[in-house]
Parts: sequence; structure tokens; C-alpha cells
Amino acid sequence: MFKSFLIKYAEIGIKGKNRYLFEDALVNNAQSALDKIDGNFAVTKEYGRIYATANAEYDFDEAVDALQHVFGIVGICPMVQIEDNGFEDLALQVIQYIDENYPDKKFTFKVMARRARKNYPMDSMEINAELGGRILDTFPETKVDVHNPEVIFNVEIRNHINIYSKTIPGPGGMPVGTAGKAMLLLSGGIDSPVAGWMTAKRGVSVDAVYFHAPPYTSERAKQKVIDLAKLVSKYAGPMKLYVVNFTDIQMYIYDKCPHDELTIIMRRYMMKIAEYFAKQEKAQGLITGESIGQVASQTMQSLAATNEVCTMPVFRPVIAFDKQEIVDIALKINTYETSILPYEDCCTTFVAKHPVTKPNINMIKKSEAKLAEKIDHMFEEAVNTAQVIEIG
Ligand code: ATP
Ligand code: MG
Repeated sequence: MFKSFLIKYAEIGIKGKNRYLFEDALVNNAQSALDKIDGNFAVTKEYGRIYATANAEYDFDEAVDALQHVFGIVGICPMVQIEDNGFEDLALQVIQYIDENYPDKKFTFKVMARRARKNYPMDSMEINAELGGRILDTFPETKVDVHNPEVIFNVEIRNHINIYSKTIPGPGGMPVGTAGKAMLLLSGGIDSPVAGWMTAKRGVSVDAVYFHAPPYTSERAKQKVIDLAKLVSKYAGPMKLYVVNFTDIQMYIYDKCPHDELTIIMRRYMMKIAEYFAKQEKAQGLITGESIGQVASQTMQSLAATNEVCTMPVFRPVIAFDKQEIVDIALKINTYETSILPYEDCCTTFVAKHPVTKPNINMIKKSEAKLAEKIDHMFEEAVNTAQVIEIG
């Protein structure tokens, strides 16, 4: 019965001249999300209000789900919008709204009227009192509680009149596209999809790079990463996924460098290649799913050694999270089930039994010098042969 939704967004931090950029991005992103489902929705903006209105049959849960993937939305209010045909008609429509939406009338309520149009013949207080009276008369089981009501009936007098009383939580955050772009190092694990999601939540567009090592890693491992990228892109919008063949570089490092330094050196090359694509995409930073102390390559010293090759900022949104905290988000955003599928990871294929946990940068650089003969060529080969997959 609801033809439209009022879309609520947080206004903190968006006052001033950038406000319209934020609102326009939100309108566009909500429109794109709703374009993927039935309903022929139109998302429109009017004086600090954003509406999504269906122009055809649609599935309520599907529409709510689509909007719950649009960052910037804090609340989704199913709404009835009526014409202003005088107060008597409004009262009837409010009664009908309640009758249809609250089969059980044993609730406490208050009416909250707001007039954006000051020429309406009654003021907000009068509307509250008069509508409250009508509701009590029609449904004697209801009770008014102005301090702590179970239901608030919002009545907004604008060009049209909006009636709504339910707010379904949105994902929060900022509209994607309002805060620049970053390149996510996306593995098949639990952490990096969460890291990408968290960054997108702040309005950052995300592209991704995945390193695979065929034949040591399979097509299925690659498909798993594509699936994860699709899940992240449900929130983050369209993204490019670069799939880089890392086998030669990995083998070369394995051949030439001490095995306990293999992971660190490999990770340094991953960062360099990711940064190459980040620059190409005009991104402002890199994102990883690293978390302090999770594995040998994520001690403070290892992170410093990995970081040292980058000139761009590296964002690590889950750096201080416990595994369970990361898992909780992965479950919430529906990446967990895919992340735990047991396919091999290019990092684990050659991993040493006792990797260094406190790498010394000078020693690492000395080892890397042994790669001088072929590494530049291999780097070029890796970036030139990367496959680009458009997601979303
Ligand atoms: P994740 O759960 O995200 O895979 P992890 O705990 O397995 O993380 P590592 O394997 O040490 O940790 O990787 C740390 C980070 O490096 C990952 O979060 C990801 O950002 C990046 N990374 C690791 N392997 C790859 C890969 N094959 N392709 C792209 N990025 C990778
Ligand atoms: Mg991993």
C-alpha cells in the first residue's frame, strides 16, 4: 500500500555549500539501487527531503533491501503522500493509515505535525491536538503518551502531505562518490572485503586489485574474489577489479630471496602494483584488510616494511579490530559465507614455516637487490597483462 518512501539522511557535516553534492549523490545512488528492481521508482529531492516513489508494482522487502545498501541513508520511512483537501480529509486519511498499518490498536502514540507551508489554516499544535483527539475517538484502545510513545505519527504539511510512522534503519555513512576513490587489495579472505566496505561507507569509491598465482591458485579461487567484489559492490557501487597474474614474481622471489622474507617481499610488490593501478585510476589511497598482530606479516614492523614502498596513504580500516569484530561485520554485510570457502590463497602457497616477524628494512632491501635482473620487466609484464573486470 505504500507507494513511496521518505529517505532520511544525517545532516551532520554536510551543512554549507557542499550539501547539494551530498544530496545529489544520494539521489543518484538510491536511484541506481532501485533501478535494479521492479517498481519503476523515481527518486526525487525537495527542500531537504528525498523521496523514492514507485510507479509500478513492487516488492516491499526488495525495495527496502535495495535502500539498505545505499550509504548515506540513515532511515527509510514507508510513507503515504496525499493531496491537501482540507483538514477533514487529512483526519480521515490518518485514521485509514492507522487502521491499515496497526491491526492491533493497543499502543501509545503521539502526533507530530510539521508545517513547511505556513499558510495552512492550523498550526502544528492545533493539528497535533485535533488529530490526537480523532484517533482516540476512533480507536479507544489507543492512548496518548507525549513523552515516550510507542508510535509517532508524523504529519508533514508541504505541497503534499506526508504521513509516516515507521523508520527502518539504513546503513548510515556517506554517499559513495562524495569522498574520492581508493584501490582495495582484495583477497579471498574475511578482512579485505570488510575493509573495502568500511571505506566505501565513508563515501569513497572503490576499485580493487586481486593477485592470483595460477596454476598454484585455481579459477575457483579467482571466482570467489569476483563474487566478493560483487557483494562489496552492492554497497560500494560499480567497481573495476584488476586481476593480476603474480606467479612469475612470486616464483622469482622464492628463487632468489631468503624464504623467511618471502611474504614481506611479496607484499611489498603487491603494494607497488596496487599503487600503480591506483595512480592510473586517479585514486587517492590504498586499502588493505590488515590488522595488527593477526599474522607474521601484520606485526608493526612488518606493516612498516610493507608500507615503506608506497607513496600514497594506505588505509587499514580494521587495523585495531579483533578477528571476531571483523567477522561480525562480514556476517552483517553477507561476505562471510563466501570468504570462508576453502580455496587456496596465493600468499599461503609458498609461505615459510617461520617467517620473519620483525623485518629489518635494510636487510629486506638487500634481498630485493637480488631481484634486479628481471624484476622491472616482470612488474611491467604483470601490470600489462592484468585482466580488468567491471563489477556491478
Ligand atoms: P584477508 O582476510 O583480507 O585475506 P588475511 O588475514 O588473510 O586478510 P594477509 O593474507 O596477510 O591477511 O593479507 C593482508 C592484506 O593484504 C589483505 O587483507 C589484503 O588487503 C591484501 N592481500 C593479501 N593477499 C592478497 C591477494 N592475493 N590479492 C590482493 N590483496 C591481497
Ligand atoms: Mg588473505
